Amino acid sequence: MPEGVAKTAIAYHEKYAQYDLGPGHPYRGDRFPRAWEFFKKMGLLERPEVVVVRPEPAGREDLLRVHDEKYVDLIFRLSEHSRPYDWETPCSPEILEAALLITGGALAVGSKVMEGEVEKGVAMGGGFHHAGRDYGGGFCLFNDVAILAVFLKERYSLDRIMIVDHDVHAGNGTSDIFYSDPTVLFISIHQDPRTIYPGTGFVHQIGSGPGEGYNVNVPLPPGAGDESYMKVLKEVVRPLAEEFGPQLIISNGGSDPHFMDLLGSLRITARGFYSITRFLTGLADELCGGKYVLMPGSGYNPSVLPMSWYALVAGAMRLEPDGIEEPRSPPPEPDYVKKEVEKVISEIREVLKPYWRCLRA
Ligand SMILES: [Zn+2]
Repeated sequence: MPEGVAKTAIAYHEKYAQYDLGPGHPYRGDRFPRAWEFFKKMGLLERPEVVVVRPEPAGREDLLRVHDEKYVDLIFRLSEHSRPYDWETPCSPEILEAALLITGGALAVGSKVMEGEVEKGVAMGGGFHHAGRDYGGGFCLFNDVAILAVFLKERYSLDRIMIVDHDVHAGNGTSDIFYSDPTVLFISIHQDPRTIYPGTGFVHQIGSGPGEGYNVNVPLPPGAGDESYMKVLKEVVRPLAEEFGPQLIISNGGSDPHFMDLLGSLRITARGFYSITRFLTGLADELCGGKYVLMPGSGYNPSVLPMSWYALVAGAMRLEPDGIEEPRSPPPEPDYVKKEVEKVISEIREVLKPYWRCLRA
């Protein structure tokens, strides 16, 4: 990358705040401006290597890259009349506009990464991974992660994209969309789905047909923390990534695995978030010329969200982790949990062995 070129594009629009799912709902619209203000406070946006992108809304044709036409029509109709998709996923003209802008942000930074204008892309507010081809749910209407992957695959003739989902919930929508697609290696690391939404994302769900072996689930027991998470990255994500040889890495997940989050029961710290994206950006540097798009969007404790999103972005940008602090000290990760994680890792290696040479050694 030539010197003096902005190295990280961050997409943001003040209308993202319209993605507010109503009074009492954990998905609040002020999450976005709070994180953005914090980024400003940390001096992130004034850094010479950062370029801020104000996105255009994604078009209907972008949604149709992934979603069925009937489903897209349904969401537009529900939005027009401000009727909910399901009990926890409301629709309105404002929410729809924000969803299209957030998706547009992902497409904008993804294009810049692939064009070589920047090395890293950050699509603020992204990661609506519970939406499948013809369904939504879990606060999600359109799967911006999958739309981004398919858009870039088509536009740049890519045939090896790796998606790492580090949200506390399994990425069931993304998983379904690429379940039989060997051009997308999808790895979801999440809290054991027997204990949390969406109730799916088990080790044996490995993909089907030509995509068999390319869908990887890492269910972590409640209480799992930074140490176990890094173990998963080193012992599962790294070998698969090396053998797969991605042309681009996309990762999604916000602060809901944090130990103080209100929906999840994992024990990741803000420093842990920094380490996760620092690890993934390192993989991108090694394997695909640094090409990495981060989509931080989840998180339901407003007091830890801005710091955690900042930590994710700082890790992706390889900044020093200065100023990343916890509001209180994290609970330790119990030994029995660490043991359980080791068991999960060896189960995954066993199940995926037939498809991956690196796991047979
Ligand atoms: Zn989540």
